[in-house]
Amino acid sequence: MKISPQEIAFDVDGVFADTFRLFVEKARQEHGYSFHYEDITEYEFDRVIEIDHMVSERILQALLERPIQSGIKALPGAVEVLTKLSRFGAILFVTARAERNPILDWIQHQLVGVSPDLIRVEATETHGNKPSVLREYGIRYFVDDRLETCYLLDQHAITPILFDQPWNRRPHPFFVVTAWDEISAMIQW
Ligand SMILES: [Mg+2]
Repeated sequence: MKISPQEIAFDVDGVFADTFRLFVEKARQEHGYSFHYEDITEYEFDRVIEIDHMVSERILQALLERPIQSGIKALPGAVEVLTKLSRFGAILFVTARAERNPILDWIQHQLVGVSPDLIRVEATETHGNKPSVLREYGIRYFVDDRLETCYLLDQHAITPILFDQPWNRRPHPFFVVTAWDEISAMIQW
């Protein structure tokens, strides 16, 4: 499979942003929990880990509203691949976050070598809105970490590429990548 740079777009949390790793770190260091990243075996994490709802809401609120100040890091290799991709035109991120600006700021903060006018971010608020937004942009391949979203994309003739995470390791028919160099290898540079 060789993907044209203009045909691929990306989810943010769990693909570019290492959001849930920081969630686990904050729960452990600031609230005394002892679960590990690999224990998050469901996207709906409260089904598989014991955490006080108020605590998880407080951590998540910080990660959603203040991603830069919270210290969310990029996944290894993401900045390099995305910066290279920007030489071929604008890069599109489609997130199910409700608020666009905090994560746009974080993306710009990460992609310092990319002109801001080459960074497009759509916040769809729901997972279900992603396919229609992607189709408007003519996107044919989308990298996401949520398995249910991959099924949804597939139904709308967008080829999902699942970014491996502890919460998506179940049998499924989709392409899987475990790191950004594997995404890079799929692109027709
Ligand atoms: Mg995600």
